[in-house]
Amino acid sequence: MTKKMKNYIDGAWVDASAEGTIPVEDPATCDVLAECPDSNVNDVADAVAAAKEAFKEWRRTPILSRAQYMHHLKNLVEENFEDLSEMVVKENGKTKDEARGEVRRGIESIDFAMSVPTLMRSDGLEDISSGIDETTIRQPAGVFAAITPFNFPFMVPMWFLPTAITCGNTFILKPSPQTPLSSELLFEMLDEIDLPEGVVNLVHGGVPSAEAIMKHPDVMGVSFVGSSPVAKIIYETCTAHGKRVQAQGGAKNYIAVMPDASLEASVKNIMGAAYGCAGQRCLAAAVAVAVGDAYDGLVEELGRQAANLKVGYGLDETTQMGTVVSGAAKDRIEKMIQEGIDQGATVILDGRGIEVEGYENGSWVGPTILADVTPDMRIAQEEVFGPVLALMKADDFDDAVEIINKSHYGNAASIFTNNGKYAREFTYSVNAGNIGVNIGVAAPSASFPFGGQKDSFFGDLHGQGMDSIEFYTERKIVIERWI
Ligand code: NAD
Repeated sequence: MTKKMKNYIDGAWVDASAEGTIPVEDPATCDVLAECPDSNVNDVADAVAAAKEAFKEWRRTPILSRAQYMHHLKNLVEENFEDLSEMVVKENGKTKDEARGEVRRGIESIDFAMSVPTLMRSDGLEDISSGIDETTIRQPAGVFAAITPFNFPFMVPMWFLPTAITCGNTFILKPSPQTPLSSELLFEMLDEIDLPEGVVNLVHGGVPSAEAIMKHPDVMGVSFVGSSPVAKIIYETCTAHGKRVQAQGGAKNYIAVMPDASLEASVKNIMGAAYGCAGQRCLAAAVAVAVGDAYDGLVEELGRQAANLKVGYGLDETTQMGTVVSGAAKDRIEKMIQEGIDQGATVILDGRGIEVEGYENGSWVGPTILADVTPDMRIAQEEVFGPVLALMKADDFDDAVEIINKSHYGNAASIFTNNGKYAREFTYSVNAGNIGVNIGVAAPSASFPFGGQKDSFFGDLHGQGMDSIEFYTERKIVIERWI
C-alpha cells in the first residue's frame, strides 16, 4: 500500500485531519511514491499554535545554543548526503549530480545560519545627550512560515528555516505537494537533533494550507518561492493580513553573447544554464541573445552539443539531463514549443516525443532549440520552465540590452564578453536582480541576498544574506539614562 505522509507538529509525526491526499510521483517512472496530505485550516492552526507556544521559551534560549543545533543539523545532513540526493532525484527527476549540488547549496545555508550570532549584533552610541545612551537591538519576531516550490525541494526550504530559527523564531514549512519527500527527510533530521517541541513544524498540502498560513493572525511573516502569478497572490494576501512577506517569483533569464566572447566558453555555460535540471531552475537560461556575428556560430555549436546530451533516469550516473517534473509540465512545455513554431521560430532541435528505454511512462522532454525568435513571440516573453532555449539576434550591445529590458521578469541576466566596458554597462543598465558576467547561472551564495526585480519579486527584503536577518528580526531602539 502507498505510504500516506504525516505532518510534523509540536515535535511529533501526526496524521493530517484533512482526508484528501495528493499523489507524489517519480516523474521518470510514474510510480506513486507516497500520498501527500492536503492539509486544511485545522492542521495549520495546530502547527501555528505549537509554534506560538514554543516561541516563548525558544526566544530565551541563548543564541549560541540555538546556533549549536545548526552544527548538529549540518553533521546529520552530511551523513545523509547521498540518501537526500537520491530522494531529490526520485521525486523531482533531476540528475544525481544536480541533486548533490542542491544538497550542497542547502548545507551552505546551514553554514550561514551558524553566523547568526555575529550577524544579529547591533550598534549603539553613548552620550547621545548628556548621560543618555542609545542602542538598537534585534529580537526574534515570532512565528514564520515558508511556502516552497517543487524544483529545489531541499535547497529552497534551507534558504529560510535555519536562519529563521537561529534568529530565535519558530517555523512552519509548507513544501510543494509535488516534491514533499525531501522535506520529510529533513524533518526526520530536525527531529533527531532534539529541538524543543514546536520550534519547527511541517505541514503538507496545496492551496488550502498555504491560504490558511497567509490568513492566520499568529503568523508574523511568510517567505515564498514559486511562480510569479502565485507570488503576487501571496504578496497581496499576506500584506492584506498584516504580515511581512518576501515572495520570489518566476523568471525569463536572458544571456547576451558579444562577438568578442569565447564561443567555447559561452556555449559550455549556456548549455549548463539552459539544460541543467531540465531547464527547471528559476535561474535557467531561457533566451540567448547573440550580438552581430556571434549568432551563426552559437546556433551551430549549441545545436550540435544539445543534440548529444544524454537524457535519462537521474539515478543513472551517466545521465546528463533528467525528466521534467510531471506529465502536466511536459504537456505545457510541448504546447509552448508548438506556439513558438507557429509564431515563426525556426526549429534547430525538437525535444518533443523522445523516449527513454525502460522508462516509457516518464515525463521526458529533450533539449530543444528555437532560433530566429523575436521579442514579440510568447516564447520570448513567458516562462517555459523546461529544457527549451530560444535564440535571438541583436544588432549591437544597446539593442541586446533593450531586448532584455523589455521582459516583465527581472530575475537574472548574463553577458559573455571579453570587454570590460560592455560588462560594466550591462551590470549598470540591465534590470535584473542577479547579474552574471561570463557566468551562466548567476546564483548568489548564501551570504548574499537572492536578487529579483519586476515580476520576479514581490516584497522588500529578499531571501538569504543580511536581508534574511532583517526579515527574521524586529529592531528595537533603547534609550537609557542612569545618571
Ligand atoms: P508554484 O507557484 O506553482 O508553487 C509554489 C508553492 O505555492 C507550492 O508550495 C504550492 O503548493 C503553492 N501554491 C500554488 N498555488 C497557490 C495559490 N494559488 N495560493 C497559495 N499557494 C499556492 O511554483 P512551482 O511550479 O512549484 O515552482 C516553479 C516556479 O518557481 C517557477 O516559476 C520558478 O521560476 C519559480 N522559482 C523561483 C525561484 C526564485 O528564487 N525566484 C526559485 C525557485 C523557483
